[in-house]
Amino acid sequence: MINYSDNRYSKLFDKQKANQFHIGNTTYKARLKKLKALKLALEKTYKNKLREALYKDFKKPKLEVDLTEIYPVIDEINFVSKHLRSWLKKQRVDTPIALIGSSSWIKNEAKGVCLIISPWNFPVNLTFGPMVSAIAAGNTVILKPSEMTPHTSKVMKDIVNDLFDDNEVSLVEGEVEVAQELLKLPFNHIFFTGSPQVGKIVMKAASEHLTSVTLELGGKSPVIIDDTSNLDKAVKKVVFGKFLNAGQTCIAPDYVFVNEKIKSEFTSAFKKYITEFYSEDPKTSDSFSRVVNQKHFKRLKTYLEDAAERNSNIVLGGVTDDTDNFISPTLVFDISEESELMQNEIFGPILPVKTYQSTDEVIDYINSREKPLALYIFSKNKKRINEILNNTRAGSTCINHNLLQFLNHNLPFGGSNNSGIGKSHGYFGFLEFANQRSVLKQHTFGAVDLLMPPYNNFKQKIVNATIKWF
Ligand code: NAD
Repeated sequence: MINYSDNRYSKLFDKQKANQFHIGNTTYKARLKKLKALKLALEKTYKNKLREALYKDFKKPKLEVDLTEIYPVIDEINFVSKHLRSWLKKQRVDTPIALIGSSSWIKNEAKGVCLIISPWNFPVNLTFGPMVSAIAAGNTVILKPSEMTPHTSKVMKDIVNDLFDDNEVSLVEGEVEVAQELLKLPFNHIFFTGSPQVGKIVMKAASEHLTSVTLELGGKSPVIIDDTSNLDKAVKKVVFGKFLNAGQTCIAPDYVFVNEKIKSEFTSAFKKYITEFYSEDPKTSDSFSRVVNQKHFKRLKTYLEDAAERNSNIVLGGVTDDTDNFISPTLVFDISEESELMQNEIFGPILPVKTYQSTDEVIDYINSREKPLALYIFSKNKKRINEILNNTRAGSTCINHNLLQFLNHNLPFGGSNNSGIGKSHGYFGFLEFANQRSVLKQHTFGAVDLLMPPYNNFKQKIVNATIKWF
């Protein structure tokens, strides 16, 4: 047995471990009561505190806090409230005739003690969202939010302390080292949201204890706008999807493929909507967030400088202010494949555009890279939409819009390989935190009992008949 008792967090872990059966055996009503209390905290008691904290952390507009942080968690709670009773019921399954005399079912039981590590870009949504699934499945949970949004973490900690004993849910604040210490503990499940680079570290640490993982990662999500699309509407939606949260969204469009024929109309519409949404001077707009901190601001500024050095064409934006971590909505054409903008996930308000002539060209390009977290198609041509869907791979796709797939809790949310392992939201999120325990109960004497040693010809005939007929 691995000794973890000298770990800083082992006492907390042990407390939760000792409590795991108590929590795992709670009724669906008891779990829903806790989630209802969380809903109330988000809707009423702590709503303004969260808005203030997110403004302090990166000037996130109030409406975006409500829409992208609070609403998705409440929606997750509402969805769970509707379905949890049935998810926790015995899921009866057929029993084959060869096992006559028995019945079989699946028991969705809690995994045990879970760790949730979350990023800074939607700190409330991506910490409490998975926590709702973990609580629904009957787990105890340790939460480790990002160190980059400390004001929000503080409010989330107050919420958790208000609603839970620490042997059920506990939030641990702190730097990367805190996550590294926590990752040494033998959790029963780790749910990580963050970059693919750190995802690999998490998976490696989890392998020490054969802990199951959900990895919600990132990458470069492409948008394809073809010449049959309603261009004006497509651009409006892409501007919204890209510049919400100042582009710091895992499923934000990372780059756009525009059919060469409509390049100049695309650019005009883009400029029009940037002005309409954020005014002539986006720095004065209350609807536009800032880059989260100096580290990320400098990273993005370097990407812009690199693009300029490689003779890319910055057709809009490119304005920066390091006193405020401000980068204006930026559109870049003629981008080199070797540029930082195309080599890395951008995660900021800069949108490179590539033009194309044939759909094959786009498909080949996408398939030559890691599988994206999201792939967006704007087109009216059904055949072409299917061609792209069938010949590429991605965690999710939204057709004729972007981001909205995240908001439907009937859909699994997640990536594929480099963009993620496992799914979240609704039943899929619940399943990540539950062990599907198989149960077979024998009620009467069964056929298999006839076949026990010593073997003889008669028993061999029964086996032959079983293979042939059943
Ligand atoms: P990150 O990977 O740097 O950090 C995420 C979390 O991991 C933080 O809590 C951090 O403290 C911790 N961490 C960082 N380095 C670590 C290490 N070496 N060992 C252990 N823990 C460590 O990600 P980020 O910058 O907070 O967020 C941006 C990334 O997250 C982007 O790649 C984005 O696409 C991705 N993301 C994905 C989703 C999704 O749902 N798939 C959602 C949001 C963000």
